[in-house]
Amino acid sequence: MRRCRECEGAVGDSHRFCPWCATPQRAKLVEFFAGTGDESGRALRVSRYVDEGHVRFSVWDETGRAEAAVSIDEDEARRLGLFLGVRDRLSSFFERLRV
Ligand SMILES: [Zn+2]
Repeated sequence: MRRCRECEGAVGDSHRFCPWCATPQRAKLVEFFAGTGDESGRALRVSRYVDEGHVRFSVWDETGRAEAAVSIDEDEARRLGLFLGVRDRLSSFFERLRV
């Protein structure tokens, strides 16, 4: 049992919303990313659990079923963000060289 972050009412550990004031008890951000080419019907779902400090990736098939999932901690998520941002930074660098 824990306390609601808004009204401090008692909230069970499994409750996602406070039963007294309906405040969400878990900060979770979710985004879907569509597959491409032969995998265009599939999707990558990325869930960021703000309070818990981890990011979960799951691969969804064309029927809406999760096929696999993995969670990474904030340090690994930050490293992934840098890895994905490298191409944009390199493209910007080469664009400036062409001018
Ligand atoms: Zn509450």
